[in-house]
Amino acid sequence: MATSATLAMAAKARELRAEGKDIIGLSLGEPDFTVPDFVKEAAIQAIKDDYHAYTPVDGYVELKNAIITKFKRDNDLVYTPSQIVVSTGAKQSIANLAQVLLNEGDEVLLPAPYWVSYSDIAKVAGGVPVPIDSGIESDFKVTPAALEAAITPRSKMLVYSSPCNPSGSVYSKEELRALADVLVKFPDIIVVSDEIYEHINFTDAHASMAQFEDMYDRTVTVNGVSKAYAMTGWRIGYIGGPEYIARACNKMQGQVTSGANCIAQRATIAALENPPSKIKYMVDAFKNRRKLVLDLLAEIPGIKTNEPEGAFYVFPDVSFYFGKTIQGVKIDNASDFALFLLDKANVATVTGEAFGSPDCIRISYAASEADITEAMKRIKTVLS
Ligand code: PMP
Ligand code: GLU
Repeated sequence: MATSATLAMAAKARELRAEGKDIIGLSLGEPDFTVPDFVKEAAIQAIKDDYHAYTPVDGYVELKNAIITKFKRDNDLVYTPSQIVVSTGAKQSIANLAQVLLNEGDEVLLPAPYWVSYSDIAKVAGGVPVPIDSGIESDFKVTPAALEAAITPRSKMLVYSSPCNPSGSVYSKEELRALADVLVKFPDIIVVSDEIYEHINFTDAHASMAQFEDMYDRTVTVNGVSKAYAMTGWRIGYIGGPEYIARACNKMQGQVTSGANCIAQRATIAALENPPSKIKYMVDAFKNRRKLVLDLLAEIPGIKTNEPEGAFYVFPDVSFYFGKTIQGVKIDNASDFALFLLDKANVATVTGEAFGSPDCIRISYAASEADITEAMKRIKTVLS
């Protein structure tokens, strides 16, 4: 099992900073906003109300009800409480799913670029990751034909995120339908639709695979509050899906971590009961930063970008630099390139290799405009 490349890069940046280096961290997908006051107040109230005990393994009933209301309100998805499991972050939600669904040798289809942890979560559960390639020319989205070509009798799960980490690409309803048209021919494949960036979407249209009637019974929708509510450290994620899968996740979680943190669950009720318009100020800021980072990257020769439609990442193709020697450093691949930026420009990014796209690096723009501007200036200087 590999170390999480995103967390490893963030740790390295922290270490270098502690040594006195002026590192700008654009490696971690972590909003730089603070938690909205109405969420903080709910957490403070929960402490005052003496919430302290072990929680139900699959989450407080009140939180499950808030999740059910959210799924209906935002996604037109109907779930009952027995179809919902609250976990310690969406990462645990996905790990639970891999543990309960995969047997040794089962294949996990991963449209690439994919979020770094999917492949190792699958491997730990005995699964075999099967990346399905896509590139910048197709806006980093896979075609139905590529999906079909990757399916074998061992295919068990398809995991994707939309909006996508790391590419920012958003699958439209029509695009998802075209993928669903392939999947209906292979009824044993369970779809894990990771929608944690749902609200950080600049297209105003978010589609869920489970909205299709013929996919509902075999799709698990994953979401959480880390990204939209800037609650990364509060660790709450959740799923809605077929009851038999929810029951298995509940069982798994009950032996591994028990229910998620009581205070964070109470705070999440407040987060989800409020309309998404309450967090629009963050989405607007991300949209401005996307423009800023794309405008500045466009000034750097050899860096190719597409326009991401959501999340808070750009995923430039930097393969122009492969084989070149800059400031005495030979750059052969994206990992060399990311390390070069860290060493020479003091800017932390993440290699695309970790996401299954070896021509690219990921830049997170969940950072201040001042940091983004300075980081792009440094990158431009070292590359020129
Ligand atoms: N899915 C994706 C696509 C992510 O980027 C992240 C980021 N951490 C997660 C899941 C997990 O989120 P968390 O565990 O913080 O809820
Ligand atoms: N998901 C974020 C990222 O991709 C946070 C780090 C992690 O959990 O991997 O950077």
